[in-house]
Amino acid sequence: MMISPEITQRVSQLRQQLQKANYAYYVLDNPIMEDAVYDQLYRELDELEKEYPQLITPDSPTQRVGDQPASQFVSVAHNIPLYSLENAFNLEELKAWEKRWQRYSQKEDLEFIEYVCELKIDGSALALTYENGLLIRGVTRGDGTTGEDITQNVRTIRSIPLKLNLDNSPPIVEVRGEAFLPLDEFDRINQEREEKKEALFANPRNAAAGTLRQLDPKIVDQRRLQFFAYTLHLEEVEINSQWESLNYLQNSGFLVNPHRKLCRSLEEVADYFQQWETARKDLAYMTDGVVVKINDYSLQQALGFTQKFPRWAIALKYPAEEVPTIVTDIIVNVGRTGAVTPMAVMKPVHVAGTTVQKATLHNSDRIAQLDIRVGDTVIIRKAGEIIPEVVRVLTELRPPNTQLYQMPDYCPECHSPLKRPPTEAVIRCMNLSCKAILRGSLVHWASRDALDIRGLGEKIVILLINNGLVNSIADLYHLTPEKIANLERMGSKSADNLIKNIEGSKQQPYSRVLYGLGIRYVGSVTASLLAENFLNIDQLSQASFSALSSVYGVGEEIAQSIIDWFSIQKNCDLIHQLKKVGLQLEITPPKMTTVNTSLTPLSGKTVVMTGTLPTLKRNEAKALIEKAGGKVTSSVSKKTDYLLVGENPGSKLTQAEKLGITQLSQADFLNLLKSD
Ligand code: NAD
Repeated sequence: MMISPEITQRVSQLRQQLQKANYAYYVLDNPIMEDAVYDQLYRELDELEKEYPQLITPDSPTQRVGDQPASQFVSVAHNIPLYSLENAFNLEELKAWEKRWQRYSQKEDLEFIEYVCELKIDGSALALTYENGLLIRGVTRGDGTTGEDITQNVRTIRSIPLKLNLDNSPPIVEVRGEAFLPLDEFDRINQEREEKKEALFANPRNAAAGTLRQLDPKIVDQRRLQFFAYTLHLEEVEINSQWESLNYLQNSGFLVNPHRKLCRSLEEVADYFQQWETARKDLAYMTDGVVVKINDYSLQQALGFTQKFPRWAIALKYPAEEVPTIVTDIIVNVGRTGAVTPMAVMKPVHVAGTTVQKATLHNSDRIAQLDIRVGDTVIIRKAGEIIPEVVRVLTELRPPNTQLYQMPDYCPECHSPLKRPPTEAVIRCMNLSCKAILRGSLVHWASRDALDIRGLGEKIVILLINNGLVNSIADLYHLTPEKIANLERMGSKSADNLIKNIEGSKQQPYSRVLYGLGIRYVGSVTASLLAENFLNIDQLSQASFSALSSVYGVGEEIAQSIIDWFSIQKNCDLIHQLKKVGLQLEITPPKMTTVNTSLTPLSGKTVVMTGTLPTLKRNEAKALIEKAGGKVTSSVSKKTDYLLVGENPGSKLTQAEKLGITQLSQADFLNLLKSD
């Protein structure tokens, strides 16, 4: 098969890059990339080599287990090699592994299978040898076949018994496990190094590995390494499973991780994994996944090993926060404020639990700083868990003949010239009739925190604009089911519903309308503040800069932005039209049935509020409670009659649950008020 020069080059670049990373990681204990990035690049190389075996070279990182240790310690050959573990990056890959080993063992109809789940401790593997119960040697994993004799250092680790706690120890016992630094110890060491102006350790794993290879055991002794044992090799004692091994290790005096679990199906394994994906954050040490091992030794034996891994175990890694991928295009997106944001389009990649294909590049300054080009391998991270961004470019993996990216001079949607306002980093389309701006404004108007119009997503918005049905927000309120029923993928029922929802949005409170207008810097919190201080839109539109900026929470930038917004005739026309169609443009306390003060629904009752209510503001709810004869207090006690619960409730909810206090949603609450 012909192999394209691009592939040959990619393989060789990946190899070089991984070799460099290995050296930094294993020899210098000072990694140059995140583990997840390394893992993905490694996988890419491995897959390419599998597809094009002619490209494999003996020095490829895929052909060896660890890396050559470079130190003054004596090399020792391991009696039994220390294998690496195959990785799975999600539950599908775990399932595929199960199928693979079942096929290999020709036991596809296995009814009864046990897996031992263990936390994957992010440390450094050690092999310990006990002769007649006494620790005689401690060796690093090294390249898996040969490690370094670091017995003196190992002896300083308190959780490694110098003598086994067994009455009749077998003559030779080999124990493997993970030496690691607890997080507080890692922080302490780095703090100390910072004070001494020494280079900091990148992570606890490298700190542990670096510590184990210290020439001075006194230093090792000061750094409180710990050790979890997880593998046992011995003769003359009958042990038939991993689970029994772990118990034997514990009885022999080792620290064995207490969070192990014997699972009877892959579903149980998945539950364990999901549980620890969250719970690991509370552990005192780092873990980077879970290790799943077939429990039964006879089945383990039947499966054996590949060149690098046992077939009977796999490491299921937690979703990576940062991963590499390749940029296939750079495009620009025009937002509702006209801001032109460059975006990298990438080969789809899994990051922090979702698949992403686009990442923001923010602005042209950022592009220049990253020096990002189409064809580049980049590292992606989820920023604030939502929008992915490009963290950096792996320039070593850049293909030849790439071009510097130039931001466009004209709006890709309406072709009007783009401008960069002098104080800003972004460039903008200044054409208020630009379709992209209209599209963004409508999507924002319909969004959950604004007018919350269900069924009016981006796709429908585009159809409405392209069919000439909507040219401004106000046009939405002149649509009829007949007008939209012929739109693509719009049945008469969904047309009715959409119009009903648009109609319903007229009841949304003033603060949401203000937010929906999309005035720059006016988020939903600011919109609420403005609504409380300027009771209708006319007051707001006429407010002076000082009146606006003196509102607590509204700074000068916001004040100026509001003034600028109302200075545009098109926006004033919009307000005029919105008034005409009946949107709420003033504070309207929710309507109440006439309240009989002698017998009000909340007379004498104490109410506590928690969380954000769907439409009522806190002060509105408070006013209603008081009007209905109730009292609002700030903390839950036995005396509380009701807890009014909104979204994202705080600890008051737990407290109320404990005390068995009646909870009310906003709807329950409004019904209660009416019930009189
Ligand atoms: P690995 O760390 O992914 O998995 C195998 C190791 O897991 C074992 O050797 C053992 O030390 C450890 N382990 C922890 N808990 C265990 C348990 N309960 N049971 C069994 N083993 C357990 O693989 P590896 O071959 O040691 O190293 C490769 C890893 O090193 C890669 O995943 C990569 O992330 C990292 N690495 C990173 C760089 C970098 O530049 N960042 C470079 C080279 C390697």
